[in-house]
Amino acid sequence: MKFILSEGMFLIPIAFDISNAEEFWHSDVIGFLDNVEHTVINFIASDGNKHQLYDVKCGCFDTTKFNQVSLRELLFIVPEIALDQAAKSWQYAEFLRTHQFCGCCGSKTKAVTEEMATQCTNCGHKVYPRVSPCIIVSIRKGSEILLAQGVRQRSAGFYSTLAGFVESAETLEQAVHREVFEEVGIKIKNLRYSGSQPWPFPHSIMCGFMADYQSGTLNPDKTEILHADWFTINNLPKTAPGVSIASKLIEQTIDEIKKYSAG
Ligand SMILES: [Zn+2]
Repeated sequence: MKFILSEGMFLIPIAFDISNAEEFWHSDVIGFLDNVEHTVINFIASDGNKHQLYDVKCGCFDTTKFNQVSLRELLFIVPEIALDQAAKSWQYAEFLRTHQFCGCCGSKTKAVTEEMATQCTNCGHKVYPRVSPCIIVSIRKGSEILLAQGVRQRSAGFYSTLAGFVESAETLEQAVHREVFEEVGIKIKNLRYSGSQPWPFPHSIMCGFMADYQSGTLNPDKTEILHADWFTINNLPKTAPGVSIASKLIEQTIDEIKKYSAG
């Protein structure tokens, strides 16, 4: 596939059906770029296939033949495999744009050809795309699930599981216990790893866990979490979109509650 990025947005030809992975990005569109300054980034995506990203540098490009779509908007309209590829291309473009100078000596860097990295032209310091680990956890208390509305979810009006960044020199498990206590003031137990998901906003890996309530009263911090409550499965609020690991953890917890309630 060939991706075009301009001003942080993907350019999708207006005539294309972007819910169709085959049609999603098409080689013919590259003709539009012949007279425009751009960087070509070659990469291999999670499907093992080679892809190319055309990162259009300037705002002088005629975008009237394209829809401009953000990576977050793609979450809701493209198949998962196309999203993986789009996310990887976006992260590489972001990496190259934000690593043009060396963090050690301040000299100009250049992209390395044999791997995704930049290297300083003066001191040789090499930098790879950043990946920031985050934890995300779904918590059950008997026949109820803990769901919270964070500051970021307020405009969309949905509830989700708790999540947060892992700090330096911290294990994933320590991060889960710390984040849960900081955000809603409770203690948890019986922590189990569930799975992970790359989350390109801007360069996270979400590490998913399931846990059970141990003690304490819900007390949202009001900084990151506006509201949190225990919900029965017959009374669930609007929750996170289907492609996210949060929705998978919520589904797993609902299954646990059904088994628990069945005795
Ligand atoms: Zn340097």
